[in-house]
Amino acid sequence: MDELLEKFIFHIGGDICVRLARELEELGGKEITDQELADKLGEEINPTRKNLYKLLDYNLVTYRRTRDKNTGFIMFYFKDNFDGYKNILVERNMEQINKWKQLLAYEEDNMFYACAAGCTRMPFDKATEIDFRCPSCNEILNFQDNSRKVEALRKRIEQAEKENEEILGVNNPSRKKARSKS
Ligand SMILES: [Zn+2]
Repeated sequence: MDELLEKFIFHIGGDICVRLARELEELGGKEITDQELADKLGEEINPTRKNLYKLLDYNLVTYRRTRDKNTGFIMFYFKDNFDGYKNILVERNMEQINKWKQLLAYEEDNMFYACAAGCTRMPFDKATEIDFRCPSCNEILNFQDNSRKVEALRKRIEQAEKENEEILGVNNPSRKKARSKS
């Protein structure tokens, strides 16, 4: 299994989820029921289902529902959907990057005031409303240089963007799309 994919799946559900994913991958696109999969793994049905649902949450598996002709029970057939996992990872990263960018803009657009004890930190206009007095410790709120915080945020964003570039690689057709957006 692809190392990056394995890491991602471990992050989602730990060892059992990785073993489960490996079984699915080995089937090469063939379907399997949750019970058959549990038997293969030597696991109970419930943890097996739980991990299948986790993968489903990330769109890493697909399933088909059908009624068994003999027993009349509803059966679920699962198969892996790992092909698009890079795009899923990149999208997740993008969500995080966008949050950091908003935070960065807020930090860059404001001057912050804080008390020495650290109970209060607020932008200038809010600080004027309370006459630069901390509501908790009553100490004066002083200007706080946030350039380090800004720098740290920029680095985090840069790193995550680089990670995305690496995930998408050179030959991935979605690379062009991701590039042209920026
Ligand atoms: Zn305070």
